[in-house]
Amino acid sequence: MRGCRRWQLNEHFDRQYLLNYTNFTTTIVAQAGKGLFVKQPLLSLVNINKFFGDFHVLKDISFDIRQGEFLTLLGPSGCGKTTLLRCIAGLESVHSGDILLNGSSIRGMAPNKRNVNTVFQNYALFPHLNVYDNIAYGPRVKKSMGEGELKGKVADVLELVQMLGYEKRMPHQLSGGQRQRIAIARALINEPAILLLDEPLGALDLKLRKHMQTELSQLQKKTGTTFVYVTHDQEEALNMSDRIVVMDQGVVQQLGSPRDIYNNPVNYFVTTFIGDRNILQVKVVETSETHAQVQFGEHVVTIRNSGQHRIEEGQTAILAVHMDKMRVSCEQTANAFVGEVLSVHYAGSQIRIRIKVGNKSITVVEYQKIDCDCEAGDQVYVTWEDHGATLLPPEDGWAEGEV
Ligand code: ATP
Repeated sequence: MRGCRRWQLNEHFDRQYLLNYTNFTTTIVAQAGKGLFVKQPLLSLVNINKFFGDFHVLKDISFDIRQGEFLTLLGPSGCGKTTLLRCIAGLESVHSGDILLNGSSIRGMAPNKRNVNTVFQNYALFPHLNVYDNIAYGPRVKKSMGEGELKGKVADVLELVQMLGYEKRMPHQLSGGQRQRIAIARALINEPAILLLDEPLGALDLKLRKHMQTELSQLQKKTGTTFVYVTHDQEEALNMSDRIVVMDQGVVQQLGSPRDIYNNPVNYFVTTFIGDRNILQVKVVETSETHAQVQFGEHVVTIRNSGQHRIEEGQTAILAVHMDKMRVSCEQTANAFVGEVLSVHYAGSQIRIRIKVGNKSITVVEYQKIDCDCEAGDQVYVTWEDHGATLLPPEDGWAEGEV
């Protein structure tokens, strides 16, 4: 009788977990080119709109996902990243628009039919099952393979996440990083077309997080599985992704490679969200196809003009320069701002130098010994790498500063 009761309890427990687990399951794939759309996408999001009551959380979202890419949804808290991921997984419905997998709509399809798996920040391992049984759970429920084949597959995915030998451990006997690896192995054993990862490293400390970033991107390359990864951490996104979708307020602001997003932000939001920059107001003196001459206070300098924006001579513009692409020199240098050092601050591997240029202050970040051993009060010359500077037309609400 006791045994029977216990079995019933476990069965209930398993059902609860199965429910959660299958809810976490979805598949997606896409093939994308450089822009928003590609010829044969694995997954296409077509004019997706989503409301929570009156709140318009996803606004007309359209882009393609490539087969085998590591695509990251990046944006500030509350911008709609998780909601978009959940729509792809089928855990949230969309109000209008379509989701196409290999050209066919999956909009109305149940999550467990979509061949997509999701890995969450809180791992969601079954606490009463050991590592082996956690990983074997999905294939056993689906009856997709016999125990013999399963044994080999579990070993394969454990090897992929470098956890061979941990089969008998219970989840509470694992560290956070190990639990996350098991959660990933449990998803990978299903060979999903797309693995959706919602801030999977969020609960880990900084050192482990960095280590796992490297492991995850190596794992993605090794398996060739399409990863759609959610984070609000720009460094994580820049380090790991093939392409990044920058979102704000439910809108896709930019989609591109990390290098593109970093060097060629398309608007003021992306400019201020990615990297640390000095934002300055300048007047455009002259423009050519590739460069523009701008006036900042008493300085007239030449700046790269990417040509993505219409910048007219005589207009006011935003000059945004990456702090770490600027250099400080004690020697007179051409095409430079001349300024007075306000402070030199050694912060770990960084040297942060604040400099007064005219009546504004800018920050330069250097990682190695600086060209000149300057200190507060010294006159210095500030230059920048061509690609470190971006010229943008002014937008509502923009402001000068160090961001
Ligand atoms: P974070 O990085 O903080 O996780 P996010 O970009 O993933 O943020 P979402 O979780 O997608 O953001 O939430 C987007 C917005 O929708 C937020 O304002 C959030 O409060 C709201 N929201 C999310 N889920 C619901 C819900 N079930 N009901 C009502 N509002 C919701």
